[in-house]
Amino acid sequence: MAKYIFVTGGVTSSLGKGIIAASLAKLLQARGYRVTIQKFDPYINVDPGTLNPYEHGECYVTDDGAETDLDLGHYERFLNTPTSQANNVTTGRIYQYVINQERAGAYLGKTVQVIPHITDEIKRRIMLLGEGNQYDIIITELGGTVGDIESLPYVEAVRQLKWELGEEDAIVVHLTLIPYLKAAKELKTKPTQHSVKMMSENGLNPDILVCRTEEPLYKDLKRKIAQFCNVRQDAVIEALDADTIYGVPLEMLRERLDIICLQKLDLPLGDEPEMLRWKEFLNKLRYPKSKVVIGLIGKYVELQDAYKSILEALIHAGAVNECKVEVRNIHSEHLTPENALEKLQQLDAILVAPGFGSRGIEGKIEAIKIAREENIPFFGICLGMQMACVEFARHVLGHKNAHSTEMQPETPQPVIAMMEEQKAITQMGGTMRLGTYTCELREGSRIAALYKSRRITERHRHRYEFNNAFLQAFEEAGMTPSGINPETGLVEIVEIEKHPFFIGTQFHPEYKSTVENPHPLFVAFVKAAKEAQEQRAGNARLVMEDRSLRVER
Ligand code: GLN
Repeated sequence: MAKYIFVTGGVTSSLGKGIIAASLAKLLQARGYRVTIQKFDPYINVDPGTLNPYEHGECYVTDDGAETDLDLGHYERFLNTPTSQANNVTTGRIYQYVINQERAGAYLGKTVQVIPHITDEIKRRIMLLGEGNQYDIIITELGGTVGDIESLPYVEAVRQLKWELGEEDAIVVHLTLIPYLKAAKELKTKPTQHSVKMMSENGLNPDILVCRTEEPLYKDLKRKIAQFCNVRQDAVIEALDADTIYGVPLEMLRERLDIICLQKLDLPLGDEPEMLRWKEFLNKLRYPKSKVVIGLIGKYVELQDAYKSILEALIHAGAVNECKVEVRNIHSEHLTPENALEKLQQLDAILVAPGFGSRGIEGKIEAIKIAREENIPFFGICLGMQMACVEFARHVLGHKNAHSTEMQPETPQPVIAMMEEQKAITQMGGTMRLGTYTCELREGSRIAALYKSRRITERHRHRYEFNNAFLQAFEEAGMTPSGINPETGLVEIVEIEKHPFFIGTQFHPEYKSTVENPHPLFVAFVKAAKEAQEQRAGNARLVMEDRSLRVER
């Protein structure tokens, strides 16, 4: 039977529960255990798919087409194993299920209540992952902060489960904050004490405390926290601010978080965690030999979390290239035909982000034009690919009014148009083309060489597609549809072969990049950025030499 580790959070949000949970999972996995992680989100939306990125950061997509919390992205990037719909559950989904059951008459006349019906459904979802002997350990992260009204049913469900399963089959790791007061030059434990007390009032006691802190926790302080929060002293774990999230597993290893969990779960420690490749990756990440500057053109750039998977994929790819990737966020709304060249020409590469709606769209098209004309490496993802097609239609094919019907339903040249099966859809939630689809790559194309394969699978999230009526014209003018869905004929990849690097993908490769499996397109894109930089430096040197020669003469 699987064992459970519940991860709760106290004092404040944004302490990095997802990273701690993923780091712990990584260590247990590296000791040979089969681990998965599940996240419960206490909001009423059925999934984050309809949420604005400003509300909730990026929406992550799994192979089976679930639109999920971005923490699932961390789980996949750390564990290198795919997650699914079952790994992310919201309060909305729980209630939807219970209400549907009630309408179906499943409760046989009973009054349907938070306790036991909602808590039972939460418990069922937690246990579901444990069925089928797929995993030894399931880490369940409770979103939100203990003490929030909406977290209460989850805390109660965990309390019941802990009682039902027994001490050795379910433990609670509570993540908390130990603030440092500069004026007093002191670390303060009171907020942690309060948060643990609040949990105890609800009948749940943490077994392990992971303490986020800016300053090291000295021994007496650990003892004090242990004493007042009723945990063993070695179960007070220090989690110092890290230079990179990828350093956290090794920090947790040093603090013996994995060992303490295994001891409490009465599981053998197994082998020392095998973290060789992880350490190699970290070394390359921390000690890069070069640096490139990549412009990220989007409309949510002021929010770090909005393009999380893209930023992480660039970090993985940077490490492979032993190159620091500095991402320069450029708001597409601020780009105009007058200023674009000046703002973009110093970049080593340009990435145009996914997105929805027309805000900032002309800025994206402008950026793509510069990338194409100035031979700056370009990578367009989803909307970025679609706008690359619009740009090409406008400025190469001469269709001045070309557009996507998403932005301009009446455009005379709809190079991007709504997919046929989307037209009848009226419900917004979970109805896009979602999840994994197969794509066939053209023999001899650059993309096939990058993937080292002719058949790939990638994840999608969109309603619009390339309009195949324009296929031949594009191909003849030099934009090649080099990736096609074999069943539907949808264009999934376009590239300009007579350009140092110009690739647009209808799918989202960023969702599949992991530490141990950096995505080949991102790796190649960063490499192209490096080459572009070297080329520019070479050109500049030639100009200088030419000038000094002329002076000598
Ligand atoms: N808005 C576009 C579509 O729905 C692109 C979506 C995206 O970038 N994820 O097709």
